[in-house]
Amino acid sequence: MAAGSDSQAAAGVADDVDEGEALRVCHATERHGRGVRTLIPRTAGEVIHRFEGTIGPDLKQHTLQVSPGRHISDTRFIGYLSHSCDPNCRLDMDRFELVALRAAPADGLLTIDYAATEDVLYRQFACHCGAAACRRWITGRAEPANAEGQAWLAGEGS
Ligand SMILES: [Zn+2]
Repeated sequence: MAAGSDSQAAAGVADDVDEGEALRVCHATERHGRGVRTLIPRTAGEVIHRFEGTIGPDLKQHTLQVSPGRHISDTRFIGYLSHSCDPNCRLDMDRFELVALRAAPADGLLTIDYAATEDVLYRQFACHCGAAACRRWITGRAEPANAEGQAWLAGEGS
């Protein structure tokens, strides 16, 4: 595939690249510990990836909620997706698919809205995604902002 493309990934960076899936986990982005990039352009509605992993009762850092009380871990890619309040992807937890919500360019960072799947987050956090509708403090969909988040939101703009 892609004969004639000789560009080499930066040496020494141990990204997890899967040419078949055309995805890679990048180990260092500016604001996030890790992220997932697509190696090829994606179109809206495209099923980018079908995921699998281990489903159990525990909420952990890189798990994702499949249904109430069930969390998937040990996934190859989706546990490392970055959050955006205006994401370019969504997770279909019935079909176990990562689906593009809109077009994404080659090497584009893939994002999901964590609150779309998670009732409670492993850790709430301040968001700098830059979306016009950024919620600024990210929680699960079924939990209020914690004390740190309330202070963050109250202190904004002052
Ligand atoms: Zn945001």
